[in-house]
Amino acid sequence: VADHAPVLPVTGHDTLAPLVDGRRVPYANLDVAASAPALQAVADRVAATLPLYASVHRGAGYLSQVSTALYEQARRTIGDFVGAREDDVTIVVRNTTDALNLLAGCVPAATDGTPGRVLVLDVEHHANFLPWQREADATVVTGRDTAAATVQALRDELAAGAAAGRGYALLSVTGASNVTGEALDVAALVAAAHDHGARLLLDGAQLVPHRRFSLEATGVDYVAFSGHKTYAPFGGGALVGRRDWLDTGTPYLAGGGAVRRVRTDATEWHDAPARHEAGSPNVLGAVSLAAACQALAEVDPDELREHEDALRRRLVAGLGAIDGVDVVHLWPDAADTVGVVTFTVAGCDAGLVAAYLSAEHGIGVRDGRFCAHPLLARLGLDGGAVRASVGVGTAGEEVERLVAAVAALVADGPQARYDVVDGLWIV
Ligand code: PMP
Repeated sequence: VADHAPVLPVTGHDTLAPLVDGRRVPYANLDVAASAPALQAVADRVAATLPLYASVHRGAGYLSQVSTALYEQARRTIGDFVGAREDDVTIVVRNTTDALNLLAGCVPAATDGTPGRVLVLDVEHHANFLPWQREADATVVTGRDTAAATVQALRDELAAGAAAGRGYALLSVTGASNVTGEALDVAALVAAAHDHGARLLLDGAQLVPHRRFSLEATGVDYVAFSGHKTYAPFGGGALVGRRDWLDTGTPYLAGGGAVRRVRTDATEWHDAPARHEAGSPNVLGAVSLAAACQALAEVDPDELREHEDALRRRLVAGLGAIDGVDVVHLWPDAADTVGVVTFTVAGCDAGLVAAYLSAEHGIGVRDGRFCAHPLLARLGLDGGAVRASVGVGTAGEEVERLVAAVAALVADGPQARYDVVDGLWIV
């Protein structure tokens, strides 16, 4: 795939990485699943918007009106991008973690007044695990060896809850694993949840930037995603979905903008989205995320999928062919797989592999347990693994460099001397 060009231009693509021997090579950012570089179109929009922002929703001045219009337009663009239905609400948040914590405060209590029940898998990112563990009555289903069996296990648990008169309010599942990129069948998840009176939330952090997703087309009830993984800078994200829980749930933050009227003895909260957006809103976060949504919406979804899929398949085949390298998989029958490839190198600490790739080849990857400790423990990977991930701005040549670099590591070992300082591998 050496000749695959990026689908859209991203910022920082021509950054040079300093190397230990003094050579400088183009930096290959193969960690877009953690945070993706901004699209050039996003950088341009931010630069154009920077002089325009002013206080939103409160000021009557001209720039306040412009800023308010930009913010509300961005909200519509973000909602449209994920196929929001007419009555869905788009809440602008900081990131996926924020979105999921917000929704955790909105799951209705059971009829006996106990916290609403939420069903999750053990494969989830901590962001889609800890809010439910802390705020709700969460049950964890262990993922099975196939996607079909995993969905069936969820379906069985949803049925058991309903039959016992303790039905689940919510099934919250990742749209694509941040460890393997693999995804369960969304239609089957929707059916499993809805057949048993539950709603479905998709953690779209790894899905929405890489596939055309629609709430309306799929019937998914809620989706959460992050701007900084969707080729916009940090600070913006979204929770989009059904209005009723969001109109009645606990206001996410208490403060100005979230209230209709405040007296010293009683407060009347707004409906969503204002209810959950107290404080001066993040106009540039919303505008930059909306710009990314707009740019992605203009790309042919098949072209995007084929580009990322070709790079992913090359990584899986190239790394898998190296002696002692194992690529991690969850489900051989995954409904889809986004461009995330996690691997281990026999006899080589994951932190050392990542440090070597950076220091000797100018390649950025992620290592560790990917905020998915329960899954990594079940896979016997408590020592961590290495993750490479690709996106719309990744060139095929970068993927080839990674495969060649890992092959060189296995053949010759690292050329520099590495030490572990405070748990970090450094040259
Ligand atoms: N869910 C998944 C699947 C993720 O990959 C991540 C980020 N690694 C998150 C949630 C949390 O995203 P954020 O850090 O932007 O809140």
